Amino acid sequence: MTAAGIDNVRFEARLLLAKAAGLSIEELIARSSDVAPVAVATALRSLAARRLQHEPMAYILGEREFWGLPFKVTPAVLVPRPDSETVIEAALSLLIDRQRAWRLLDLGVGSGCLLLTLLKELPEARGIGFEISCDALDVARVNASTLGVEARTALLTGDWRQPDWEDQVEGPFDLVVSNPPYIESAEIPRLMPEVAHFEPRQALDGGPDGLAAYRIIAAAGRRLLVPGGHLVVEVGQGQAYEIAAIFASAGLVPLQPWKDLGGIERVVAARH
Ligand code: GLN
Repeated sequence: MTAAGIDNVRFEARLLLAKAAGLSIEELIARSSDVAPVAVATALRSLAARRLQHEPMAYILGEREFWGLPFKVTPAVLVPRPDSETVIEAALSLLIDRQRAWRLLDLGVGSGCLLLTLLKELPEARGIGFEISCDALDVARVNASTLGVEARTALLTGDWRQPDWEDQVEGPFDLVVSNPPYIESAEIPRLMPEVAHFEPRQALDGGPDGLAAYRIIAAAGRRLLVPGGHLVVEVGQGQAYEIAAIFASAGLVPLQPWKDLGGIERVVAARH
């Protein structure tokens, strides 16, 4: 797999073997001197072939950890990334009282990694996940139930490109989060094959300048938020100040961006 440009080969190979054998990593290590049955070897070969085509590990394994929580993942949703944990950090730093009955909205909820993690951290909060893809909502529904927050979660299909789309979500909200599509359309073919060939295009494609979704979200911001409420969004590298300016021209007050672990300004927040 190294020759195919895949890093972390030993680590990934071990995860694929565990998947093929139907064992946890711990069980696999405990049985490392066993000889694998033929069926396991065959299953491993087909999983490895998928990985060699650059299919993301998260799709092959069917799950990915985010904020220490297990999320089901399918090709209908973006793979949860460590960078997006910055959205959780920013949101929790703005909603200081963890016990309040905060009202949350996630625009483009996908797997649910943002909304459902926040609902885990804020035990009295309730949240709506808005999403264009019914297949993605099916994934979010499973995750809400696995995490035990389904009673506080409402999942709605809708398209924010339609006029008055925000009438479908009953607000106002204390916090609106989003990891919208933010890649410039022309850049998508140049992304890593794992992203360009496998992740859902509508979760990536932010239009010609990458900012289309932020303009829509900004325009609805004041109607969606309570006075003093916050909009917290993930942004692409180099986009933070332009997006803060879009929020400011929509009458919101941008805050200082938050950096991810790589030092990139990854999260922009604005107050109503
Ligand atoms: N983080 C993804 C990437 O860089 C993009 C996600 C998005 O557009 N929201 O590949």
